[in-house]
Amino acid sequence: EETIVDVIVVGAGISGLYAAYRLQQKAPELKILVLEAKDRVGGRTLTADLKTSRDGNETDRFDLGGQWVTDTQENITALLNELELETYPQYHTGKSIAELCRHIKQYALPIPFISLLSFLESIYNVFRLENLVSTVPTWNPMMTRNADYLDQHTLADLMKPCIRNSAKPLFAAAVRTIFGCEPEQLNALFALTYAQASGGFMRLTLTDPGCAQEKKIKGGSQQISQILVERIGTEHVRLETPVQKIVQKEDGTILVTTTQNQATIQCRKVILAIPPSQIIPIQFEPMLPGYKRELFKHMPIGSYLKFIFIFDKAFWREDGLSGEVVSDGSFTSLGLSIGPLTYLIDGTSSNGTPALIGFIGGRCASVWTSVTFEERRKALTECLSRYFGGHKITSHLIEYVEKDWNLEPYSGGCPCHNVTTGSMKDFVDGLRKPFTNIHFASTETASQWMGYMDGAVDAGRRAASEILVSFRDNNQSKDYEIDSYTYESQNKRMASLFVRQLWSGIGCSSILRPTVNIQPSIRTKMVRRVNRHRVPT
Ligand code: FAD
Repeated sequence: EETIVDVIVVGAGISGLYAAYRLQQKAPELKILVLEAKDRVGGRTLTADLKTSRDGNETDRFDLGGQWVTDTQENITALLNELELETYPQYHTGKSIAELCRHIKQYALPIPFISLLSFLESIYNVFRLENLVSTVPTWNPMMTRNADYLDQHTLADLMKPCIRNSAKPLFAAAVRTIFGCEPEQLNALFALTYAQASGGFMRLTLTDPGCAQEKKIKGGSQQISQILVERIGTEHVRLETPVQKIVQKEDGTILVTTTQNQATIQCRKVILAIPPSQIIPIQFEPMLPGYKRELFKHMPIGSYLKFIFIFDKAFWREDGLSGEVVSDGSFTSLGLSIGPLTYLIDGTSSNGTPALIGFIGGRCASVWTSVTFEERRKALTECLSRYFGGHKITSHLIEYVEKDWNLEPYSGGCPCHNVTTGSMKDFVDGLRKPFTNIHFASTETASQWMGYMDGAVDAGRRAASEILVSFRDNNQSKDYEIDSYTYESQNKRMASLFVRQLWSGIGCSSILRPTVNIQPSIRTKMVRRVNRHRVPT
């Protein structure tokens, strides 16, 4: 069967579906086809009906993938409004718990208080990191001061001179939770760029207004993709159709081959809305430019397992606890950990079903996904018993469910890709620059909140806009009403935004702003001094 369409979108995650939706809205006469490898839409978002009563007769919806949003994420907030999806706040009342270096302590501040030394050290390092973050221009991270040094070192190297043993485990736990990898594996320049794209490291760790864990979507985040498919039309989305080969012919047409009966579909434009690691297995004719191939090869995805404990009562709330736990897994010198948990938080559903959800990330994930389901469940139950009391866990537990994202085909891990050391030179062009008639979306290519659902929408919007601009400029179609949010215009926009940010001193995270937002000139001097002091050139 021969199919000819105008645009093929590869990948039915939020990014690809939003690109298709936007194209259809702006240019309804264009024929669009979305090809998805999995048997479902949503990609790294997945909402499941889980058992909420002992007899199994009642169920409720829980997110096994991406779930939190916040108002500072303009793209996803606007999309949720457009799709009439509501949000509800993340519960975060009461004390949190830290289990670091085998000590369990309750704390009420944004940063765990294990000892005065570790607390002061953590605060100092947060300031130091946020100051470095605010010097990174996200549209071109290689323009950062000492970019080469930062690119050649890991985040752990960067913190080494001033992070002693007391704050190290907390730092490692935060990196595992945000990136799904170890500080020793993470390119320092990439980590700073990632944080800058969201407004700072603290924003990524907190549940406060404007921070990454502020709100959840009622009924689950997979609905975003499901509603987008309804709006696009199910006939324009093909599931279980992995793309295998993309040939760009000299006459400007593109042939896309899928493993589904080796069918070939002809089109004028392709949007690749799949994560970088999933682009590598696809065959391209002509080959992708070297700077893209090399970058994709050096972008590993994080390692993450998400789990949910469903209870018949939110007993932790009655005990004055928020349900939040930060743990370093307490690695011994042999590399074994006594508790798999990296991060835990109240996961009560919008219908009020009590739950605790959590992650095992980075090295903890590689250790603890090698054991059996029963061993992992037992170890996690022991963890929760240490924090909340064993009898409470056993008497109120209804269900334990987990999702190992490392085993998910066509995702290969989560929550996002990072970059190995020495590979940031082609970061922006490698990810975002179109390759003739192939355009690139997916959250990794976003200029703001990359790695998040918001970034997925941002990237989808840009890719759709690039296609409309090129159709208009080539006079192939009518003059579309578009916002010209393209690869080039985005870079210009990011540049002017960065200059304004530096000037007004709002490059730092919201909670540090009152302290750091002193006279811009003093702050700039401070940033310079910290950098000069700590980053060898
Ligand atoms: P994806 O969702 O990965 O979509 C890509 C699609 O392409 C997939 O459906 C894949 O099957 C398909 N595909 C791949 N290869 C091919 C091929 N060859 N042919 C056809 N199709 C192909 N984000 C937040 O904002 N907040 C959170 O709280 C949050 N927490 C997270 C927790 C977990 C456990 C996970 C997994 C992710 C989390 N994220 C969170 C990240 C968020 O889910 C992602 O950033 C976002 O969903 C990515 O969307 P995307 O469309 O860019 O990519």
